[in-house]
Amino acid sequence: MEERLNSFQIGLKLLDRAAEKLKLDPGLHKKLRYPKRQLIVSIPVKMDDGSLEVFTGYRVQHNVDRGPAKGGIRYHPTVTLDEIKALAMAMTWKCAVVGIPYGGAKGGVKCNPKEMSLGEIERLTRRYTYEISVIIGPEKDIPAPDVYTDSQTMSWMMDTYSMAQGFTVPGVVTGKPLALGGTRGRKDATSWGVVFVIQQAIQHLGLNLKGATIAVQGYGAAGAGIVRILGEKGARIIAVSDSRGGIYNGKGLDPTKLAEYKSRTGSVKEYERGEAVSNEELLELKCDVLVPAALENQITEENVERIKAKIIAEAANGPTTPGADEILAKNKIFVIPDILANAGGVTVSYFEWMQDLQSHFWTEEEVNAQLEKVMVKGFQDVLKVSREERVDMRTAAYMLAVSRVAEATRLRGIYP
Ligand code: NAD
Repeated sequence: MEERLNSFQIGLKLLDRAAEKLKLDPGLHKKLRYPKRQLIVSIPVKMDDGSLEVFTGYRVQHNVDRGPAKGGIRYHPTVTLDEIKALAMAMTWKCAVVGIPYGGAKGGVKCNPKEMSLGEIERLTRRYTYEISVIIGPEKDIPAPDVYTDSQTMSWMMDTYSMAQGFTVPGVVTGKPLALGGTRGRKDATSWGVVFVIQQAIQHLGLNLKGATIAVQGYGAAGAGIVRILGEKGARIIAVSDSRGGIYNGKGLDPTKLAEYKSRTGSVKEYERGEAVSNEELLELKCDVLVPAALENQITEENVERIKAKIIAEAANGPTTPGADEILAKNKIFVIPDILANAGGVTVSYFEWMQDLQSHFWTEEEVNAQLEKVMVKGFQDVLKVSREERVDMRTAAYMLAVSRVAEATRLRGIYP
C-alpha cells in the first residue's frame, strides 16, 4: 500500500530530495521548508436571502526572494491551508524552473461557488480581496484565476484593490479580460506551453511529432487546447476523456469534430467515431505521449507498471504519486514534470503583468513567440541537469528550481 501523504507533505518530500542531491546548506534548506507568510481571513458575506454567512479564505506566500509572489486563487469546498501551502510552494519552483522573476503564492476560499449566486460570489470576492489587500499588490503578490475563478473574478479583484488605492492598478492581478489590461494568448497559454515541451521531448527521443500517438486524460481548458494544437501539428490523437469517461480510436480522432461534439453534448464520452474507454484504461494505452490534464494522483503504484507511454507530459498538477514516480524512472519513461510542463500559464501571466506595467500591449504572435522561447529554454535547462547529474527529469527540475531560489536567498542574506 502506498503511503498516503497530503499535498504539502509530498511537496516537502520533493524539496528534501532535491536539497539532498544538491548538498544544499542545511539552513537554506530549512528556510525553504517554511512558507514566508500565511494569512487566514474571515469573510462575512450578506447572502441573497438576507442571512449572513462567514467564509474562510487563505493567501500563502511561500517565497519572494526572486521577485513578487505569484499564484492563483481557488474557490472550492475542500480548500485547506495545507493544500494552499503546497500549491504556493509549487509556484515558487514553477517560476524558478522557467526563469521568470517571481516567487510563489496561492490563495483560496472554502466555499461552493456552484451553490452561490453571481451577486454572492461578487461580494465574497470583493471582501476577500479587501482582507488580503494588506499583502497583495503589483510589486508584492499578484493573484490569478484557478479552480472556479475566472476573468470576471479577476475584474472584481482589480476593481476592489484599485478603489482603495484611488486609481486603477491593472498589474495587481493577471488573467483579466482584454478590456481591462489582459493579454492576448492567455486562454491557450498552458496548452501551448505543454505542446512546446512535448515537441522538445519528441526531438530528444528521436521520435517524430507527425503521426505520434497521443492520449489525453481531461478534455478541459488545458486538455482541449492540447488536443487541438497537437492535431494541427499532425499528431494522431488516439484517446481523450473527461469526468464522464473516454473515447478511443487507434486511427485517430478528429480534433475539430470532437470539439463540436463536446460543446454540443457536454462530454466526449459517447462520441460516435470511437470505442468507449475508461479513464483508467486510457492511462494504460500504448502511445507515444500520455498527457494527464485532469486531476492529481492518477498515476499511482497500483497502475504504474501498466503504463506503456514513451513520454508523460504532466499538464495537470501532481498527477503522479512519489511512489509511482520512482517506478516510471526505473522503467525509463520520459516524464516532463508538472512544474515545467504546465508553466506556460504563469509565463503568459508574467507577460500580462509586464504589459500592464508598461501600458504597452503585444500581439498574440509576440506572446506565443516569447512563450516558446521561455518553455524551450526551461526544457533544455532541465535536460542539461538531468544529463549532468544522471537523474530523472522531475528530480532535475526540482534541483534546478531549488538551486535558483537558494542562490537568490544566499546572495540576499538573512535579514536583519
Ligand atoms: P478544467 O476544469 O477546465 O478541466 C478539467 C477536465 O478534467 C474536465 O474536462 C473534467 O471533465 C476532467 N475530469 C475531471 N475528473 C476527471 C477524471 N476523474 N478523469 C478524467 N477527466 C476528469 O481544468 P483545467 O484548467 O484544464 O486544469 C486541468 C489541470 O491542469 C489541473 O490539474 C490544473 O491545476 C492544471 N493546470 C491548468 C492550467 C490552466 O491554465 N488551465 C495551468 C496550470 C495547471
